[in-house]
Amino acid sequence: MVNEKYYGYGTAPSIIRELFAYGLEQAKKIGKDKVYDYSLGNPSIPAPVKVNETIKKLVDEESSILLHGYSMAPGFESTREAIAANLRERFNTNAQASEIFMTCGCAPALVSVACALTCKPEDNFVCIAPYFPEYNVFFTAGGGKVKVVAADVPDFQINLEALEATVDENSVAVVINSPNNPSGVVYTKETLEKIGAFLKEKEAEYGHPIYIVADEPYRELVYGDAKVTFIPEVYDNTIVCYSWSKSLSLPGERIGYVYVPAKCEDGKAVYAAVAGAAREIGSVCPPTLIQRVVQECVGCMPDLVAYDENRNDLYNGLTEMGYECAKPDGAFYLFMKAPNGDDFAFSEAAKLEENILIVPGSGFQCPGYLRLSYCVSNEMIKNSMPGFKRLIEKYGK
Ligand code: PLP
Repeated sequence: MVNEKYYGYGTAPSIIRELFAYGLEQAKKIGKDKVYDYSLGNPSIPAPVKVNETIKKLVDEESSILLHGYSMAPGFESTREAIAANLRERFNTNAQASEIFMTCGCAPALVSVACALTCKPEDNFVCIAPYFPEYNVFFTAGGGKVKVVAADVPDFQINLEALEATVDENSVAVVINSPNNPSGVVYTKETLEKIGAFLKEKEAEYGHPIYIVADEPYRELVYGDAKVTFIPEVYDNTIVCYSWSKSLSLPGERIGYVYVPAKCEDGKAVYAAVAGAAREIGSVCPPTLIQRVVQECVGCMPDLVAYDENRNDLYNGLTEMGYECAKPDGAFYLFMKAPNGDDFAFSEAAKLEENILIVPGSGFQCPGYLRLSYCVSNEMIKNSMPGFKRLIEKYGK
């Protein structure tokens, strides 16, 4: 006998992983250069040079017992202070080390917050479609529910009316992911301010806090004139979940944090409950070496030139052919409409006819659309264009 819920999670098929595995098999048969894999969100730009230099320096100069030993459960004080100082410098916040809890990436940060805030089975987390499919797992981890706000097509900003109709007396948080996976859209400051004002009203009406959980692994991946709003600046009851998986291209190093600003209602209690939840899921004392690395590299910014070139080439190439999509301002995803209206059928046709691997939007709660991860080589984008052209000629209206 095993736990049914976890058995289900462990055996559920993942279309993204299946597409990726298919791509690897096809590459063996027909050659890597003939497979156009847009399935995974694995960064394609290398980590900044300083990251590897810091690793080398630490390994050469520090005691290996300390470097590979446990840290304190919430992480090193010095690491948390460096992060807090960086936040104070960049944003209008008074972040302190005592408000930062280090985690093994953004996923456990989100799960810890979900568990920390869930008090009863009716509690719900409002998630705005399209959203990262793992939210359905993360935000029910504490025994609560996910409520979905329908996507606001075609620009994928937040539909405020739909949000207002979804929040209810059992809502404990609204989850905001900007820049967004899968749409690449950055939510405007104005929209976030309106959400803040609305939640304040609802808090007064229901007599309990309704937090914003800001899921921010793509915070630093933003192009052109777009600006990512640091949500604690517009709404006090915001809890930030962050990782360096995308910004420093370190997804395999599993390093991130939860930031519970002191101005959050019940902030100290929330922080303590996050610490307790992190304990339950075993996301404490994240990799010591990597904590030290992010401490040194907290000011490093990604070089976005390659992603931006990909973004422009992909967006321009596809829209010139007649594909419809919102121009992404951030992250490394583009979300396009299936020309035949059926995301699964179009993904399958693209895979079987053109070896183009693109992810159906249904898993992101947005049927009829497809996600393309453009953290790939620019050459792959250029070489995939004739295939996209044949597909729209065959399946487009
Ligand atoms: N949130 C979003 C929106 C993501 O896209 C991802 C990963 O792709 C995560 C959270 C999890 O990030 P991490 O790999 O740091 O756990």
